[in-house]
Amino acid sequence: MEKVVVIGSGCAGWTAALYAARANLSPLVLTGNQPGGLLTTTSIVENFPGFPEGVDGFELMTRMQKQAERFGARAEFGNVEVADFSKRPFALTVDGKRVETQTVIIATGASHRHLGLENEHLLENKGVTYCATCDGALPMFRNHPLVVVGGGDSACEEATYLTRFASVVYLIHRRDSLRASKIMADRTLANAKIKPIWDSAVTDVLDVKQGKVTGVKLKNLKTGAESALDCAGLFVAIGHVPNTQLFKGQLTLDENGYLIPAKGAATNVPGVFVAGDCSDHVYRQAVTAAGMGCAAAIEAERFLAAGS
Ligand code: NAP
Repeated sequence: MEKVVVIGSGCAGWTAALYAARANLSPLVLTGNQPGGLLTTTSIVENFPGFPEGVDGFELMTRMQKQAERFGARAEFGNVEVADFSKRPFALTVDGKRVETQTVIIATGASHRHLGLENEHLLENKGVTYCATCDGALPMFRNHPLVVVGGGDSACEEATYLTRFASVVYLIHRRDSLRASKIMADRTLANAKIKPIWDSAVTDVLDVKQGKVTGVKLKNLKTGAESALDCAGLFVAIGHVPNTQLFKGQLTLDENGYLIPAKGAATNVPGVFVAGDCSDHVYRQAVTAAGMGCAAAIEAERFLAAGS
């Protein structure tokens, strides 16, 4: 029987594991499908304290894992299919295997939001992607016009990164100003290779018949005017949805699926704690996720020490 199982291996998960490991609880970290979480798909992280030159997202996560493992955390690649919080010990089914544990820290993070267009789905990995750092350098995108959708920090980061490969990057946003932080927005709009297209939505992706992206259809949301834009790739960067479907019906979620803690990191089920982007739609930063992971581990430790 485990004392602490951490579900998820992003900033929140590995920080929770570090603190639980240093409390001699030998936590088991179930990594999920994407070990290291969303940060591993980002390029340079410039706002994690302690790295004045910035740090590669993948490297940061690898370092966090090593640090937690140094004190006894254990990583297991696997996806939790069923979580039964109805009685203690809690029971998790991980790729068909049963794991019992006294406490659980949920740090499942969030996934990329999709536009919801049929052809977006049909052309996924055929020119439609959700990660510029993962796919931007592919030959199919080189020296071609590319489209990024979104107005937040992610869209700015993706657009800027893609200027290395694209002939031009069109940044399509549904409003007339960016939501991104000022420094990211200024940097993006100052880049001569990035052409913003304001007040516009992507209404379709072409061309399923050819089995690749050849362009997008746009609609100006103020005038209603429709147009088409040639491009070789569509990079969707419109935010995230929390990975919490597994816990629906057992834990309290808000209307968007974010886990709502009952007090601090504790949920409505004693012994189950939350940390990171699966319960935070406000700050959503690597450093805040790490802080939440720390808090969840301290609470789990106190819960166990109290013999609850
Ligand atoms: P975000 O801040 O939630 O921005 C999402 C953007 O997509 C918004 O501009 C939104 O439009 C647009 N959008 C949402 N749904 C859409 C839809 N269905 N169709 C078209 N557009 C849609 O998400 P994010 O940019 O992924 O950032 C998430 C968090 O991570 C933020 O806290 C951000 O600061 C952080 N982050 C930081 C960095 C960094 O500092 N290096 C890099 C990436 C992300 P509206 O503006 O109209 O709502």
